Amino acid sequence: MNKLNTLWLYHEAVTELDKLESDVRTTPSRVKLTKLHAFLSEQQTQLNALQKQLEAKEATIQRLSAKVAELEKACELEESEFKVIESDEESTAAELTESRSAIESVLKEVAETKRELFDAIAWIEKATADYRELGSKASRAKKEYDALKINCENEQASAKPAIEEAKKKAESLKADVDKALLDKYTFIKTRHALPIAKVANNQCSGCNMSLPTSVVKRVASGEGIVECENRGRILYTD
Ligand SMILES: [Zn+2]
Repeated sequence: MNKLNTLWLYHEAVTELDKLESDVRTTPSRVKLTKLHAFLSEQQTQLNALQKQLEAKEATIQRLSAKVAELEKACELEESEFKVIESDEESTAAELTESRSAIESVLKEVAETKRELFDAIAWIEKATADYRELGSKASRAKKEYDALKINCENEQASAKPAIEEAKKKAESLKADVDKALLDKYTFIKTRHALPIAKVANNQCSGCNMSLPTSVVKRVASGEGIVECENRGRILYTD
């Protein structure tokens, strides 16, 4: 058996192993699992962002509540001052007017701040409902994810014996391959999934390029390594 025959046998075994491994990675369950995983991460990002917004809004509510309390106190002070001015016979009409407008201005500010406060509270109520809805959606998706994961693990477990077998076969064939040839094969494989190609009808079966007769003859002679000029695949013939 020449060097290329052993490489070809190894190549077939590796290709079979690659296929078995790729099959288990691309089952419908596994594809769905990957999608769900992305969905769950997206949901988590949204939940975290909403959580931060809620915390910020809660801080705003605290600040606004404190401001309302302060303004109400200021209002009481203005009102008691007004009563003093009102009961003082020496007070002028201008003083009374000024005091009354001071009260009105504080009351106006109280009303504005309360409006801001109510808006913030309404926002929080809506955001909390959104958060709950998002959370329950995420938890449903998580349940589905967990079930699918078990499914995928089962698939993997049942594919394992065949994969192990194919691995063993590839390893044992690999031992027979000429070292320099194997290195070349491995290097080409980093660029092409199929690093070796058969010559069929004077064509490279890897890229379907027609090969010059001289090349076909060299491949057939089995002497030395002949590469396809197009993609650099090692050419082989039975
Ligand atoms: Zn080619």
